[in-house]
Amino acid sequence: MTQSLLLVSNSTNHGEGYLDHCMGEMLDLLGARRRLAFVPFALFDRERYASRARQRFAQEGLEVRAVGVGRDGVSTLEWADAVFVGGGNTFRLLKTLRDADLLSTVRRRVGEGMIYMGASAGANVAGPTIRTTNDMPIVQLESFDALGLVPFQINPHYFDPPPDTTHMGETREQRLLEYLEENDIPVVGLREGSWIRVEHGHARLGGARPARIFRASATPEEREPGAGLSDRDGGRRVAPRKRMTHGGPAATASAARGTSQSR
Ligand code: ASP
Repeated sequence: MTQSLLLVSNSTNHGEGYLDHCMGEMLDLLGARRRLAFVPFALFDRERYASRARQRFAQEGLEVRAVGVGRDGVSTLEWADAVFVGGGNTFRLLKTLRDADLLSTVRRRVGEGMIYMGASAGANVAGPTIRTTNDMPIVQLESFDALGLVPFQINPHYFDPPPDTTHMGETREQRLLEYLEENDIPVVGLREGSWIRVEHGHARLGGARPARIFRASATPEEREPGAGLSDRDGGRRVAPRKRMTHGGPAATASAARGTSQSR
């Protein structure tokens, strides 16, 4: 990883304005760079989304151009010092990027030094695939392969169930352990208010909350803001939260070993 990236869990924190919680980190990463390409493909109304982003970044003195699906998409990415990929539906975002033939341009520009920033769906597509999104597949995709700018998957808006919940559907943790039964790529469960900043080949956690790291055949780990993702000793190994599932506590234990039988 030689590129610079900021992968944010969510674009709006409860009780705050659009991007307020991570704007300081974005500006710090941008430094003197002022030309920002905005990718609005994750929402249906791209124009409205682009104007929202333009207004927000204008407050910080940034010049924003929306990336379009035509040939101008490539020229906007050539012009930009940085790209910000907005959140929404991850399947729609990836499909539109692929249909507009922009995946390779984004990869090339990031390799050339264009900063990549993405929130939520925009963070999901930076990983090898979008298999750990929370979204519904509202459009058909030929492949879940994404940009592959980082070697780990992201699960944004990572959510711990309230201890006294009576909800019987799978927890987020169970769903990610199911992913790891079939795939051997680590997943970062990124709680709201948090992000991963990648620079000089190092990925570091930031923001308000610890992240939960999932690896195949390993107990999930809690990792605090400030820790590196590859610091083997930076994480706190903790047992998965105990709660009744479809199959009761035994199913929770088997899910923790990555062998969930709970459905
Ligand atoms: N729908 C989310 C977003 O806000 C992405 C996700 O939850 O996977 O972009």
